[in-house]
Amino acid sequence: MQNIDIASLHDDAGDRLAGLGRWWLDRAGGGIALSAVAASFFGTGRHPDPGACLARIEPADRHVVRAALDRVHAGGTGVECEFRVRTDGLGLRWLRLQQIDTSGSPVAAGILVDVTAARQAAARERFNFALTQYLVGTDSIDDAVTGILQLVCEELGWEWGAYWALDDRAGTLRCRYAWQAPRHALAPFRAASARLTMAPGEGMIGTVWDSGEARWIEDASGTADLLRAQAAHACGLQSAYFFPVTFVASDACLMRPGVLEFFSVQQRQPDAQLPGLAKSIAAMIAQAVERMTQQERIRVRAQTDEMTGLANRAHFYDQVDRQCRDARTGQTFGVLFVDLDQFKPINDAFGHDAGNVVLTTFAGRLRALAPPGWRIGRLGGDEFALLSAPGATPQELERVAETVLDAARRRFVYGEHRLAVSASIGISTYPDHGGCTRELLHAADAAMYTSKRSGRNLASRFSGDGAPADAGHRIGLLTDLHSAIRRGEFFLEYQPIRTSDNMDIEAVEALIRWRRPNGEIVPPNVFIPLAEQSRLIVDIGRWVVRQACQDLARLRAAGLTGVRVHVNMAAPEFIDAELPDRLTAIAAAAGVDPRGICLELTEGVVMKHPEKSIATMRELRRRGFGIGLDDFGMGYSSLSLLKNLPIGSLKIDRLFMAGVPYDRNDCAIVRSLLDLGRHMKLTVVAEGIETDAQLGYLRQFGCPLVQGWLPGRPVPLERLFDLIAQPQAA
Ligand code: C2E
Ligand code: MG
Ligand code: MG
Repeated sequence: MQNIDIASLHDDAGDRLAGLGRWWLDRAGGGIALSAVAASFFGTGRHPDPGACLARIEPADRHVVRAALDRVHAGGTGVECEFRVRTDGLGLRWLRLQQIDTSGSPVAAGILVDVTAARQAAARERFNFALTQYLVGTDSIDDAVTGILQLVCEELGWEWGAYWALDDRAGTLRCRYAWQAPRHALAPFRAASARLTMAPGEGMIGTVWDSGEARWIEDASGTADLLRAQAAHACGLQSAYFFPVTFVASDACLMRPGVLEFFSVQQRQPDAQLPGLAKSIAAMIAQAVERMTQQERIRVRAQTDEMTGLANRAHFYDQVDRQCRDARTGQTFGVLFVDLDQFKPINDAFGHDAGNVVLTTFAGRLRALAPPGWRIGRLGGDEFALLSAPGATPQELERVAETVLDAARRRFVYGEHRLAVSASIGISTYPDHGGCTRELLHAADAAMYTSKRSGRNLASRFSGDGAPADAGHRIGLLTDLHSAIRRGEFFLEYQPIRTSDNMDIEAVEALIRWRRPNGEIVPPNVFIPLAEQSRLIVDIGRWVVRQACQDLARLRAAGLTGVRVHVNMAAPEFIDAELPDRLTAIAAAAGVDPRGICLELTEGVVMKHPEKSIATMRELRRRGFGIGLDDFGMGYSSLSLLKNLPIGSLKIDRLFMAGVPYDRNDCAIVRSLLDLGRHMKLTVVAEGIETDAQLGYLRQFGCPLVQGWLPGRPVPLERLFDLIAQPQAA
């Protein structure tokens, strides 16, 4: 180091403050000199042996530094690299080596900057991004947490990462998820982890959970309270870091769902940055856990009938679907379609509360009488259905039907009243009366009408001969429905969709109504499902779009240029390949821009034929139509499916609004759907807003658009002109 005049080398105070070190390298002699700050990074003197510095550098990064120094030696300029150093006291640090221009001098020089904070900020950023990806891209908490473990291990150089979750019921901690670096033989450690459970306070994991404090160990095999010390030793695992996962839940309670651990095959020293990073990793895992739990809640909610807790219609149909699909040859089973007799008079005379008591009590009785393996659903109103276990014989079906009749005849207690109803039951069997859900339910429904016509309080088996005409009322409705378009019996009403902040009308939703010749107004959820069973729905859909486009043209002509029209679409309409052409033609004929029209689909529509509908959606969007997801949260679509949908908006189903702002679960679901919308850059509409409290809540959590009785009921077009003309006070 004779060539370098050490007297001229010093750190100024500024260097120290900035964590800035300096280095000099004698190109000819190969010696190096370091400023005091630089020497402190390596824990060496100011004229160290290059080997001593290299020894402190992470093995994986040494070649980078060697290559950089070789280039400096060879007379290169502008050399730069980043590498990790194990420092005394500050743990693992990232340093940037940068050469400065000393051309002409035999001594090359440069600076060493501690860039650890920036590196870790970038890592945190990457974690955040990856977390969003996991949340949207995976269906299960398992995938999300394992993905996050892998990310942390790869970023920070750990060979093993695991999450120990507290099982609330057993009160023990258990290794739920683990990730290991592929090139290391850690199978014995994995097996030892899988075998182990521990109580809070027990062993390393239990202690960390109990105390809420992170722990660092330098040598795993010598640590007494690590219950897997032997396995760790056998696998060459040395240093480890354990920290509790904590978060504050939506109800402000502090939750501690588990502990994270990371192991390294190297002996590492505590890293000063790790605690901070650990906190944000823990928060992310906690957030993932909470979101996934909520998704699970949404799923359960979407499958159950709120009032009775039985399976709802969609879920019951799914169960029948599955049983048809899985039926072995020769196996029979059956469906009982149950409709209560004389239920409406109870509702009319005693009010809805009385009706609800009858329905919930009856649901309870069905639950009690159903043999093991049977499923029960509430299909709507006073209609219930039972699906037998696979293998049930026709005799068993009839026996159960008898007990259902009994259950319906027993009085229902409402206050001092003892209410009487009975049941009409229809029975169909697989495969004689149908090979799929639609056929089986149709047959059971027809048989149920036979029971009704034969005087009620009866069970009838489906008999093919009298078939369709037996479905009585429904068939009558369907017949009338066929001529409704021709006779001009449909009309549209429009419900405003308003901005939540100042209640401007942003859009309107077209809702179809049917006025039958007898003057009765039939709501869409009665006749649309009937129409959906045939091509009729396509004709009705076409009528709606044509009418809505003409009305939109009138709105435009009246100077109301900003308002868009939402139109509902049913599945059979949507999978029609000609839809884009047809809609474009209808819009053009009415002289309206497709950008003024938003098509509302439900998740079910997309789920039925994902590929076909996504292609149709893309094409429609290309042509300018907006696409929104209706009744969101009710279907079963996974978030990963949602990610691929070319949609611009989503409507939170009004079922979730019912509990806002008082029901904790509903609120949490609504908030997480709002979050989801924001993440995915979708406009969120909350529907079913009936109270000021709901509106206030939505405003608070930044829901941009609202729809419901409070912002405005559906009205005929003429009323809409007035509504738009006179803005509502916020
Ligand atoms: P949707 O698309 O979810 O429409 C919203 C429904 O919620 C409408 O019922 C609306 O009147 C009702 N609603 C609005 N605000 C509130 C509120 O604050 N509280 C409550 N309890 N309800 C509110 P509607 O008009 O009976 O329509 C029912 C469903 O029928 C619609 O649900 C939609 O799925 C379907 N539908 C309506 N029109 C059409 C159509 O033209 N074509 C197709 N395929 N389906 C339609
Ligand atoms: Mg809708
Ligand atoms: Mg809806």
